[in-house]
Amino acid sequence: MRRISSAFVCGLAFLVVLMTGSVAFADALADIKARGVLVAGVKDAVIPFGYVDEQSKQIVGFDVDICREIAGRLGVKLELKPVTSATRIPTLTEGMVDVAACTMTRKIARDDVIDFSITYFMDGQKLLVKKGGKIKSYKDLAGKKVGTAKGSTSEINMRNIQPKCTVLSFEGYPEAFLALKQGKVAAVTTDSVILVGLKGSDESPDKWEIAGNFFSSEPYGIGVRENESNLRDFVNKCLMDMWRDGTYKKIYDKWLGPQTKFYMPLTWEMETIPE
Ligand code: GLU
Repeated sequence: MRRISSAFVCGLAFLVVLMTGSVAFADALADIKARGVLVAGVKDAVIPFGYVDEQSKQIVGFDVDICREIAGRLGVKLELKPVTSATRIPTLTEGMVDVAACTMTRKIARDDVIDFSITYFMDGQKLLVKKGGKIKSYKDLAGKKVGTAKGSTSEINMRNIQPKCTVLSFEGYPEAFLALKQGKVAAVTTDSVILVGLKGSDESPDKWEIAGNFFSSEPYGIGVRENESNLRDFVNKCLMDMWRDGTYKKIYDKWLGPQTKFYMPLTWEMETIPE
């Protein structure tokens, strides 16, 4: 009797796990369609990728427009949730967002935890320093402090390339830039486009310069949870279609084109596959 009842309890528990499991692991793309909303994790303090517009108080930027386009092509609304470099992966794995489009580099180590779309933006790491100062490259940073963001590839790359510097990791890049202005660090380091954004949005951009050559490769991907291949395929198809139909270029030029304060020539090509 005892044996039967424990077998019964085990079976019941198994059933419950199976049922709740099947709810938790429902296809993310189908969930988004049923809900009518795509929830995207974006930065809210990285000009021009994701930041709060002073007038509208809304989060805007290149990453936001890419997500808006994906949501539009899916026929759903877009909801934004701010993430930082340190919180974006847990926010995604815990199910608080469907996608993470937040200046995030595709990296093998990250691929162990989440999946990525194809590369939708290409950059590399540089330094932002005081104009006319002594720092011309990472080689000049031995014995110096360098500011960057917690949870970024930038902090790891910096330590690897210049083990003799001290990396100070802040919550975000504006805090690292403030430390540079206050003389607490000798440089800010991260992807060049983020440095262009910091410099270009400063009240005295001429005080700062972006120094040295690229010392890393930073291909950005949109993060999705592991094993959500329908969603990942959809995102990839959207990105390729946007590249082919000119939408990508329009969004690119809006935020990074020659008419902006953040001009970065488009020097790479998205890898597209035939229909
Ligand atoms: N692209 C780099 C990364 O994914 C640096 C920018 C960021 O912190 O978002 O870590």
